[in-house]
Parts: sequence; structure tokens; C-alpha cells
Amino acid sequence: MKNFDFRNPTHILFGKGRIADLKDQVPADAKVLILYGGGSAERTGVLAQVRAALKSRTIVEFGGIEPNPRYATALKAVEVIANNDITFLLAVGGGSVIDATKFIAAATLYDGDAWDILTSRGSVVKRAMPFGTVLTLPATGSEMNSGSVITNPEKGAKLPFMSAVTYPVFSILDPELTYTLPPRQIANGVADAFVHVIEQYLTYPSAARVQDGFAETLLRTLIELGPKALETPNDYDIRANLMWTATLALNGLIGAGVPQDWASHMIGHEITALNDTDHARTLAVVLPALMNDQRGPKREKLLQYAANVWEIRDGSDDARIDAVIAATREFFEKMGIKTRLGDYDIAAPEIDRIVAALQDHDMTALGEHSAIAPDDARRILETAL
Ligand code: NAP
Ligand code: FE
Repeated sequence: MKNFDFRNPTHILFGKGRIADLKDQVPADAKVLILYGGGSAERTGVLAQVRAALKSRTIVEFGGIEPNPRYATALKAVEVIANNDITFLLAVGGGSVIDATKFIAAATLYDGDAWDILTSRGSVVKRAMPFGTVLTLPATGSEMNSGSVITNPEKGAKLPFMSAVTYPVFSILDPELTYTLPPRQIANGVADAFVHVIEQYLTYPSAARVQDGFAETLLRTLIELGPKALETPNDYDIRANLMWTATLALNGLIGAGVPQDWASHMIGHEITALNDTDHARTLAVVLPALMNDQRGPKREKLLQYAANVWEIRDGSDDARIDAVIAATREFFEKMGIKTRLGDYDIAAPEIDRIVAALQDHDMTALGEHSAIAPDDARRILETAL
């Protein structure tokens, strides 16, 4: 096992009706900026619950944060914070609103050009405003990690950053808030969480028994409950299990002490930057192609994944690997997520643009051993056509 630090300061408040707890979690004298997305939080009544819980605080609201949140929108929120002496931020939404809030929290207290935060992957971030979250979409794990991904269409860039000071102070996870999600977003959330686990599990060398065991349980839970969540949308226990699974998939626990891949994510981000394809869908395209391409170096772990997650134990090594890649692809397709670039109107000529963008963004040594160079990414994308 590799050396590791594990520290996760986010206080989780899980369960029905927990929005009411905002009254105790947000400082009594806070001047709060509530951040939300394109309107779902208003339509579903979540904002009304939040306003009621915070009725004794001074509140300012900032809506309109896009899916794949935009840099320019985040900078507008930074201005609102300065103009209103805001002291606490509250993100109400999915990964996009939470990611934007992290960037806004850091940019507000950063002295230089906010773009540095992204180009430095967060290393320039030393301070951030305190913020909490009310999660409405289980998917990204952003509610209990310090990562954020921001899109800047003018620069053709979708870039991640992380920092020790951008963990939420608290996150409210009420599974009932997910009942209003359309099937497409449930499917996206399950696929994103699934690939988060895979990026930390399907790596080599493998020596972390507990992390592997946790990861395999999370994967089996998503495989079992993902389709059921689509069939029976208002089942509390299914939604509760999915919500906690998505959080645990990317809160540092299963990633401690293990090699981490993230190549599917970095290649996927460039596809989203190209044509705004949903994040999870880009992952469902890249991952099966990457597994196939990396079957040599990842052999041992692919066989463990086949046996422990899919109960595929018979046949030659290659036959079992073929079977587990096919099973993974079928799982995404069963969730209603297409797994080929062509399904998203991306043809061979666009691959050059995706590979050029990876190079522009210094994503030239991907994977758990920095062994996936641009030509390897090109080969992976070609087999994903
Ligand atoms: P999202 O972009 O936050 O939301 C997707 C859509 O779902 C939005 O249109 C939103 O509508 C709607 N929605 C949210 N909650 C809803 C509810 N309860 N009922 C009905 N509609 C609802 O989706 P996401 O998958 O959570 O986040 C994706 C972003 O996170 C991407 O930019 C991705 O790159 C990033 N990401 C971050 C991390 C991380 O660790 N930080 C990890 C992976 C991915 P409204 O806009 O109207 O609210
Ligand atoms: Fe993701």
C-alpha cells in the first residue's frame, strides 16, 4: 500500500427532513448567498425548504449556474459576494452547483487572476470562504470532497482543481430530494459514481484489501440498484443507498493508499468541452475502450473485477476480460446510456481535436503510472468510435 494522508472534514447530515437542520449549521450571524442552478431547485420546492430553515438569516440568492458550470458565471457570483458582504455560501443542487460554489469560495479570497486557480490545479488556493451544500443529485461526490471542475467555453477548456480548503463545512443528504430527478440524471449519477470507483480500483499494483473490498461493494450496489432506481423512482431505501454510495465513491476513503487512474475522466472532460455531452456519458464511452486498450497492464485487476464484482470466473484470462468489458458496457446501456462516440455525433475527425485539447491542457501523461500519452488516448478514442 502507498503512504497516504486521510482527512475529510465534511459533516454529513443524512436522511429525511434534514434541510431543517440548516438553522443550526449555518452561523447565526451569517449573511448567506444561496447558489443554485437552472431552476429545478425552485420548481421542486427545495429552495422553499431552504429559505424556511434560514428565515432568521440575511439571504441573497444567485441562480443560473449551468450544468458543467461556466467560469464567467462563477465570476459574476464573486462580484455579488463582494457587493453584499456575504460571509457564508450555501450550494443547493448537484455537482455543477457545488463545484461552482467551491471555485467561487476560492476565487473570492484569491488576490490574482482567478484563472490561475484552474491552471495551477488549485495549488495557488490558500484560503476559501466557508460553504455548505444541500445535495439534490447523487453522482459526483462533490458534497464530500474538495474537487471542482469548471468549464470555460471561450478557452475550449474544462479544468479540475482541488485544495485542502475547499471541502464543504457540511452537506445535507436527503434522499427524498432525488425523487424529482429525471431518469437521464439518475442514470448519469449512477454511471459517474461507478466510474469514480473504477478510477481508484481498477489500477495496479493492487495491495489494498480493505479499499478493494469497499470499492467492490460500491460497484455491486450500483449495478444492483441503478436499474431499480429507474424502475421504482420513489423507493426511499434505493435512493438512500444510491446517495450514500455516490458520496463514498469519491470522498477519499477508497482512494487512500491506492494508485489512481483518472484517464477516463480527463479524456471525457475534453469531449464535454468539445460538444457539451453529459459528463457521465463521456465516461461510459471512454471507460470500456480504455479497459480493452489497457488489458495488458491492468490484467490482474480486470480479472479480480470480473470475479468479485460480476462473478465471471470461467474461461481463459482474455475470455474473462472480454466478458467483463462487455458486462460493463451492457450495464451502462441498460441504464439508457450509449457507449460509442458515434452515439454523440462525434466522428473520426473530432478525435484530433480532443487529442489536441488534451495536449493543450498538459494531459499528456495519464493513468495511474502516467503511461497514457496522447497517441494512446487517440488509439483509445478510435476504438470508442
Ligand atoms: P448537474 O450538472 O449538477 O445537474 C444536472 C441536471 O440535473 C441539471 O439540469 C439540474 O437542473 C438537474 N437537477 C439537479 N437536481 C435535481 C433534482 N433533484 N430534480 C430535478 N432536476 C435536478 O449534474 P451532476 O452530475 O451532479 O454534476 C455534473 C458536474 O460535476 C460536471 O461538471 C462534472 O464534470 C462535475 N464532476 C465533479 C466531480 C467532483 O468531484 N467535484 C466529480 C465528477 C464530476 P437545474 O440546473 O435546473 O438545477
Ligand atoms: Fe465524475
